[in-house]
Amino acid sequence: MKMTMSELEAEYIRRSPRSKQLFDLACKLTPAGVHSNIRFFKPYPLFAARGEGSKISDVDGNEYIDYVLGQGALFLGHAHPNVVKAVQEQAAKGSIYATANELEVKLAHKVAKMIPCAEMVRFANSGTEALMHAVRVARAYTKRDKIVKFEGAYHGFWDDLYVGVSLPFDKPMSSGIPSSVAGNTLLLEFNKLEVVERAVRENQVAAIVVEPVMGAGGSGIAAGVEYLKGLREISTDNGIALIFDEVITGFRMAPGGAQQYFGVVPDLTTLGKILGGGYPVGALAGKREIMQTIDPTKEGVRRWECAQHGGTFCGNPITMAAGLATLEEIDRAGGQLNNRVARLCGKIRKDLNDLFLRYRVKARAIGVGPSLGVFFTDGELKDARGLLSNDEEKRVAHCIWLITKGIWHPPIKGWYVSTAHKDADIQALIDKTEDFLKTTRS
Ligand code: PMP
Repeated sequence: MKMTMSELEAEYIRRSPRSKQLFDLACKLTPAGVHSNIRFFKPYPLFAARGEGSKISDVDGNEYIDYVLGQGALFLGHAHPNVVKAVQEQAAKGSIYATANELEVKLAHKVAKMIPCAEMVRFANSGTEALMHAVRVARAYTKRDKIVKFEGAYHGFWDDLYVGVSLPFDKPMSSGIPSSVAGNTLLLEFNKLEVVERAVRENQVAAIVVEPVMGAGGSGIAAGVEYLKGLREISTDNGIALIFDEVITGFRMAPGGAQQYFGVVPDLTTLGKILGGGYPVGALAGKREIMQTIDPTKEGVRRWECAQHGGTFCGNPITMAAGLATLEEIDRAGGQLNNRVARLCGKIRKDLNDLFLRYRVKARAIGVGPSLGVFFTDGELKDARGLLSNDEEKRVAHCIWLITKGIWHPPIKGWYVSTAHKDADIQALIDKTEDFLKTTRS
C-alpha cells in the first residue's frame, strides 16, 4: 500500500483536534471513551456536533456525507422537518406520563397497517429489548426454552442472542455470559435449510430468529426467498414461532419491511431504528394469539402464566411522535421512497463493483434493494462464514480514508443510505473510493 495506515491515521488526527481533546476527557470517566463498544475505532471516534439531511458535522467543523445515519435509524436523513416539528410540539406538552397516551395508539395502528404480521404491537426502547421480549413471548407461547439463531446475525446485546455474531463463532462474544444461558441457543449456519431441519428434529425449539437481510454482522448478506419460505414451513410444521428481526429491514426494504419485500410473513417481528424516527425505540409485533401471551388481564390468568413486558420509557410520547411523523412519510409515498433508496444502493453496488474489477481489487459491494455492504474479498458472501476471507485491514483503511475525504463511515459493517441522499452524495462515495484504490494500488 502506498499510503500506510499510520499516515492515514495521522491525517485523521490532523483534521480533528477538538475530537481528540474530548476523547481524552471522555476516557477519564468512560471505558474506551464511548457509550457503545461498536463506536470505538482507532485512533478515536469523531465527536458529532450536528446532522442535517444526508450530512453530519463534527466538533472541528468538518462536514461529512453520512453513510451510517444513526446506525440505520435515520431513513429520512438527519433532522427531517416533519420529525423535528412533531418532536418540538410534543416536547412542549411533556416528555413522559407513565400512563397510556394517544400517540401510542396512532403509531400502533400505523405499524399494524404497514407490517404484514403485525396484528398486535408492543413498544419498547431498543432493538435489544424488543428481541429479548420476542423470545420471552415465544417461549411463553410454546412452553419451550431453546431458540435457533444464525451465525453472523446480530440481534442486540441480550445474553441469549449475543452468540456467534462475529468470527470465530466458537468463541463467546463477551465475557460475563454464563455458559448455561448460551446452552439454550442453537447457533446454526445461515441460508441452509438442512441444518435447521435437523436442529428442530433433535430439540424442542421455541423460536427461530432470523434477520432477512443481515445487518451489523454482515451487512447486505441476504436470505434467499426459498430459504425464508422453508423456515416458514418448518416453523409452522413444528409449532415454532418464526421471528423476523426487522430492526434494520423494517420500513426500509419496503414500507412493510422485509416480510413484504420477500413475501414471507413471520409469526412475530421485532422493530426498532426507523420506527423511532431517530429516537430510542424498539417494538414487538405479531400474530394476535401469540402477542396475547403478554396480556395479564385475561380471565383466570395468573402472573406466572403470562409473558411480562414493559418499562418506564415504553411508548414514550416523544419517540411516538417522531416515529409517527417518519412512518407517515414512508407510508404516504407508497414504496417510492424505498425504491429511491434501492436505486441509490444499486448504483453504489454497480459502480463500486466496476471499480473493484477495473483496479483488480478483491472486494465487492453487496446487498439487495435498499441494503448495502462493502467487503474486501472476492469470495462468495452467502453467509457470514464468507467473511473469513475478508481483508479487514483493507476494509478499515477504506473507511478511514473516506472519513479524511468527507465521507462518514467508521469501520462498522453496516452501510446506510437515506431518502435525503442526493445523486451527488452517491457520486462522491464512488469517486473517493476510486481515489483510494488508485492510492493503495500496489
Ligand atoms: N437487531 C438488529 C438486526 C440490529 O441491527 C440491532 C442493532 N444494530 C439490534 C437488533 C439491536 O438494536 P438496539 O441497538 O436498538 O438495541
